[in-house]
Amino acid sequence: MNASSVVKEHLDDEQFRILNEIAAISAAFGTNCYLVGGAVRDVLKGQSSGDLDTMVEHRCSEIAYAVAEKLGGTVLKVTRFGTAALDIGAIQIDISTARRETYEKSGALPKVFPGTIDQDLARRDFTINAMAISLSRDSFGDLIDHHDGMSDLENGVVRVLHNQSFQDDATRILRAIRFAGREGYQLDEYTERLIRRDVRYLETVSGERIRHEIERIFLEPTSSAMLQVANDLKVLQAIHPALGFDQSIVPPITCDLDDLNLIFYGLITRQVSPEDVEPITTRLMLDSVRAAFVNDIVSIRAIVPSLRLSKFNSETYYLLEGLQPLALGAYATFTDDAEAVKRIRLYLDELRCVRPSITGESLLAEGVPEGPWIGQLLKSLLAARLDGDISSYEEEVEFVRRTLWGGS
Ligand code: ATP
Repeated sequence: MNASSVVKEHLDDEQFRILNEIAAISAAFGTNCYLVGGAVRDVLKGQSSGDLDTMVEHRCSEIAYAVAEKLGGTVLKVTRFGTAALDIGAIQIDISTARRETYEKSGALPKVFPGTIDQDLARRDFTINAMAISLSRDSFGDLIDHHDGMSDLENGVVRVLHNQSFQDDATRILRAIRFAGREGYQLDEYTERLIRRDVRYLETVSGERIRHEIERIFLEPTSSAMLQVANDLKVLQAIHPALGFDQSIVPPITCDLDDLNLIFYGLITRQVSPEDVEPITTRLMLDSVRAAFVNDIVSIRAIVPSLRLSKFNSETYYLLEGLQPLALGAYATFTDDAEAVKRIRLYLDELRCVRPSITGESLLAEGVPEGPWIGQLLKSLLAARLDGDISSYEEEVEFVRRTLWGGS
């Protein structure tokens, strides 16, 4: 099959021009050049594609620098495995050298050797990602498809290339769920059986790689459905037994990408108990921002029984004080405990903004001696305002006078 017309149709003019330049420069260095990976899958499926992956047979870094010079781009990274990342205008391009891989131990990174295009395609995750389109002038558009990727693409099926695939690299389990959850795709039945069989191999994968793949799921438009599958196939539980996900409680989420990540961490750790927080954050190697968010979600859940019993606004305030508003807001959207939601909303919308007019400085200026009682006094003053016992500056002054000197 020749795919030149779909390449032209579904890549934009700039992408097309860049690919032609890379192919021409590769030819000058004596190698063929191919479009590989996700872009091949996307254009053959009739979709546009963002980042482009290309493959050459050798001299990858020299080609990358020559391309950057010719097109005014920047080489972002060159690795000793023969890969280069380039930025050309707004377009990100990877150029890699065809390689073959062997896995000595499940989960460990593979040993990498120079290889042929066919060997490189054979080391890939799914048949739909294991195709290449030639970009070289004399064979432009020729499709290389040794694993029936095209027919799986037509049927929208995500299928591994061999039955040891998930044992070699269990991050592919998360990748399978991500690709299969996209519109127009589904998980091949046999591949699903392999996931069930090999899910425990996730234990062999580093937290960093798991986190990377799970966060790619969080950012997909259909992330909730994907996480539900990850839950049902016991994939989340294989990462840590206390993780879980329930699509039915997920609210419509509109926020920026960083917050989206946090909210999904909150959703998968919703039922976690306090003693599981540390093992989970360690397993996923979460940074301090993510870890603090998970910690807050779990703390809120632990606080909720007391929150429901709180009779005074000041109790609500002191229970929730110090927890991140984003975590509180997220928890309120995904719990069905109406009383807890009412208290959280009250705290977020009103109580957390309440500040007495009298401050520590003003007390010192009025001659109140320095000491721990200042903090205690301000705390009782805030509680009185929160509970509506006082509501004006004059009442605050009176409150302070009474508390400090008693009587009227
Ligand atoms: P998208 O960017 O749409 O999510 P993609 O296919 O471009 O999808 P990448 O993670 O950028 O995803 O991977 C590029 C290609 O590298 C894949 O299409 C696949 O061929 C190969 N690949 C990536 N990760 C693995 C893996 N763990 N095992 C085998 N092949 C992989």
